[in-house]
Amino acid sequence: MKKYDVLIIGSGPIAITTSLLLAKINIKVCLLIDDLKYFKNEVKQSGPARLFAIAQNSYEIFDEIGIAEDVAKNSQSINRIRVVDDNSYSKVDFLPKDIDLKNFGYLIDEIILLRLLYDKLNANLDKIDVLHSSSSIKVESEEFFTHIHCDKLMNISNEKENLNNIYAPLIIGADGKRSTIRDLIGIDTKELDYGETAIVIDIKHTDWPHNGVAVEKFTPNGAFAILPKHELSGTMSSLVWIEQGKLSKDDINFFDKDTLKDLILRKLNGYLGDIELASDPLTYNLKLVQAKKRHKDRVVLIGDAAQAIHPIAGQGLNLGLRDMQGIIKMIVEGLEIGLDIGSESLLEDYSNARELDVEKMVKATTFLTNLFSNDILPIKIIRRLGLRGFDKVSWIKKLTMKYASGL
Ligand SMILES: Cc1cc2nc3c(=O)[nH]c(=O)nc-3n(C[C@H](O)[C@H](O)[C@H](O)COP(=O)(O)OP(=O)(O)OC[C@H]3O[C@@H](n4cnc5c(N)ncnc54)[C@H](O)[C@@H]3O)c2cc1C
Repeated sequence: MKKYDVLIIGSGPIAITTSLLLAKINIKVCLLIDDLKYFKNEVKQSGPARLFAIAQNSYEIFDEIGIAEDVAKNSQSINRIRVVDDNSYSKVDFLPKDIDLKNFGYLIDEIILLRLLYDKLNANLDKIDVLHSSSSIKVESEEFFTHIHCDKLMNISNEKENLNNIYAPLIIGADGKRSTIRDLIGIDTKELDYGETAIVIDIKHTDWPHNGVAVEKFTPNGAFAILPKHELSGTMSSLVWIEQGKLSKDDINFFDKDTLKDLILRKLNGYLGDIELASDPLTYNLKLVQAKKRHKDRVVLIGDAAQAIHPIAGQGLNLGLRDMQGIIKMIVEGLEIGLDIGSESLLEDYSNARELDVEKMVKATTFLTNLFSNDILPIKIIRRLGLRGFDKVSWIKKLTMKYASGL
């Protein structure tokens, strides 16, 4: 049996960042992961991966854990954002200089970000107990602690130590959209199936470099984003192509490469010139999954475990990092005055404090999805007038840019 201040469950960017930040402020932390591929160096650098747009606030968090320089070195800066309504040909350009910024943030490959985070974790194994579970876990809440039991818990930080029982007054569930801990403690979810699939694929375009421009095109079928990738020649981009219906990787691979290339060229409509497909496709079925409660029985949910939103605005990770900041603030303040950090009242305060930010983002992404994927005439007119009007009202434009940059 071992006791910690905080136990974190999850293997993604939110869980790893949370454990690094808590360890930095000397909180006794244990991280439970379900996958060893990053520890074993089994992830191919060149594999297909989605890009994450890192907002300013998230970049500052990465600075606190000491990876910001490497994030910047391995990212493509966003020098301009162009939003295009494919039907009306109206467009609006956002420039960072309009809000006194050098760029709108960074686009980094998910695999590279995870590598940087896992490298940092590896360098901190003296401060963080990292456990790997290869079988299912059981959770039991007691008066002052929550107790996790698992038959096989491999301790990566200290291989000699055998553990199968862990105690902590607070568990942070950061185990993603299909959270196991959320199910184990019985928190239900609200779900909204968008009936769409995001197809992520890399292209090479040697005729025309991207110059750091991110393009978001809205078509009646869904959004189509062209995101500049980090590469010296600036001739690689990642496409996030949203299509109606539930598609799998096999459905996309059903097309031969030439047909797929033709479909993409049609979507690009001359932008970036000729292209070559540079990766296999990845597919994500899009569904809003939101926990009905953010906490229960000394367990608090953060990141995608609390809310997995539509990727239309590229904000899920940024939102999850703001959850993390909220819970860390509560832990620090609670411990300073000797409070029980897993208590119902403290977790209720945390949940209430997160409500507004999360609801705004859930509503904004759902609104954007409906607005731009709808072909009803009045909505088309609103869309056209909206984009043009938007371009003229500079304070709204500036506010939007600040929000998207996480300022
Ligand atoms: C196409 C697409 C593009 C996106 N682009 C952006 C973007 O540009 N910017 C942005 O901010 N967000 C973006 N997002 C959203 C972003 O991917 C998520 O918000 C982010 O990955 C959430 O991180 P997380 O750590 O909470 O969850 P995840 O990344 O899902 O990680 C959870 C991890 O926990 C592990 N796990 C599950 N069960 C257990 C268990 N029992 N024990 C231990 N570990 C477990 C899982 O295997 C997984 O590795 C995008 C999403 C999609 C689909």
